Amino acid sequence: MNAENTQTSEERPLNFIEEIIQEDLAQGKHKSIITRFPPEPNGYLHIGHAKSICLNFGLARKFGGKTNLRFDDTNPIKEDTEYVDSIKDDIQWLGFQWANEFYASDYFEQLYQWALVLINKGLAYVDDQTQEEIRLNRGTITTPGTDSPWRNRSIEENTNLFTRMRNGEFPDGSRVLRAKIDMSHPNMLMRDPLMYRIIHAEHHRTGNAWCIYPMYDYAHGQCDSIEQITHSVCTLEFDVHRPLYDWFIEKLEIFPSHQYEFARLNITHTVMSKRKLLELVQTGLVNGWDDPRMPTICGLRRRGYTPSGIRLFSEKVGVAKRDNVIDISLMEWCIREELNKTAPRFMAVLDPLKAIITNYPEGAEEFMKAPLNPEDPGSGERLIPFSREIYIERDDFMEDPPKKYFRLRPGGEVRLKYGYIIRCNDMIRDQEGNILELHCTIDPDTKPGTGTWRSVKGTIHWLSAKHTVAGEVRLFDRLFLEPYMGSIPEDKDYREYLNPESLKIIRAFIDSQAVAMANQAVSGQDGSRIRFQFERLGYFVADYDTTKEKPVFNRICTLKDTFSKTLNQL
Ligand code: ATP
Ligand code: MG
Repeated sequence: MNAENTQTSEERPLNFIEEIIQEDLAQGKHKSIITRFPPEPNGYLHIGHAKSICLNFGLARKFGGKTNLRFDDTNPIKEDTEYVDSIKDDIQWLGFQWANEFYASDYFEQLYQWALVLINKGLAYVDDQTQEEIRLNRGTITTPGTDSPWRNRSIEENTNLFTRMRNGEFPDGSRVLRAKIDMSHPNMLMRDPLMYRIIHAEHHRTGNAWCIYPMYDYAHGQCDSIEQITHSVCTLEFDVHRPLYDWFIEKLEIFPSHQYEFARLNITHTVMSKRKLLELVQTGLVNGWDDPRMPTICGLRRRGYTPSGIRLFSEKVGVAKRDNVIDISLMEWCIREELNKTAPRFMAVLDPLKAIITNYPEGAEEFMKAPLNPEDPGSGERLIPFSREIYIERDDFMEDPPKKYFRLRPGGEVRLKYGYIIRCNDMIRDQEGNILELHCTIDPDTKPGTGTWRSVKGTIHWLSAKHTVAGEVRLFDRLFLEPYMGSIPEDKDYREYLNPESLKIIRAFIDSQAVAMANQAVSGQDGSRIRFQFERLGYFVADYDTTKEKPVFNRICTLKDTFSKTLNQL
């Protein structure tokens, strides 16, 4: 990896939003900055939100400002407190703390008063057209819209009707409040956009206090303004909303927040729409929001990703002005980089095959030495027990192997990692002819650090049978086979692209020292969960399903880097 690719945010050149902020501060436009993260509490956060969180909180951190958490809870139908709690939990887990926790619904009264101000200025009117009529009269990109027959109501009539809308006198959908801008504006969003609609529904915070709810475009900028947000950062698709954002603020003569757009994060082999994620959960195609294959923060967290790994990923992705799709292997590269430096090494044997060392005395044992983490000189040594019965992986033995197979074969030799060279002399079979166990012998002169060093082509990992715990290992692969889920044909259901092999559950033996370490930590806070490298297999962490009786480990990522190849092209 070259130096350029491991730069931190302090060292790399400023991104375009940071440049704007630096300029604003230099010119004295603001004394300090305030950003916000504005989730709608209608689902769990995903890695795209993590990008937005790292960006918004990161900007404030970098420039000594602060960040508000604002729940954008203007739609009572889809929102829930369950989501509020999970969102807060995820942000804190990522390592950020908001200056204030606000809700758009806190501002309903102020927003309502401001709507009356706009009515008073002749800049808003109550429209009685049906939704369909409004849609039709909006015109198209090439043809101007048509004025509503209610567009020229008097200020008195508008005030009267709007007040009565608020008081609950009219049914859902019977009337709306619209801004009076320009029905032939080239930007369709400026053709008298909706400000309020009637929804008789209970809100998770305001209960039944309101039956009119502000639209996103009317609420968002004003909420920013109330909180004196200096830099309101959102994703690119909102650039067409910016003129409207500015229009409301200008007409109301309130604190001039400004909106800046960056490219949303897209990742290969996954979907990030909340609707689709919800559907995957509800139809049981995944095992819940925190299924380790999900791109949700709670899924990545369960899988064993660290907050710092996700923050590094966000940093690497950068802040782009144009939409793109990031290779999911970059995310894996980021966590692998970190775990390589921090994870203690142990061995685990998947799909085990027993091997008896016939020339090793029963009851005897000895210890092999290995560094706990060769990347961390301070980590010390571990002792690996060896005894007469060991397990190796079934995959590391072949009865009739092809050429160039360097692992164990009948009559062949292989080195046990950190241990002796063994030779396979015999295979014991069951009645169906399946191999039950191997009979092997060690060459006693080949213990590392003693005797004479002799090398053989293959090295395999192994465990002393009586020093292991039987458990389960979960191996994950891409959730979808198609890398560009955003480009699948419209007539196709995205679920057709699910990878049927995205989850493999495998019987395994795990080093009992690693299991003991994991058990100690798992009862504590998430931060104390220990991530291990199981040699030759990848990085692992105990899953929430782990019990004292049966350890369950998730593979966070493999050891093999598929990303470096493409990294230099970034
Ligand atoms: P919805 O369709 O429900 O609006 P959303 O993904 O936009 O979904 P929000 O809760 O509105 O969800 O998003 C909160 C913040 O996260 C917004 O500022 C949004 O721009 C940002 N965000 C959402 N998805 C991404 C993404 N993929 N990349 C970067 N930022 C994102
Ligand atoms: Mg949104």
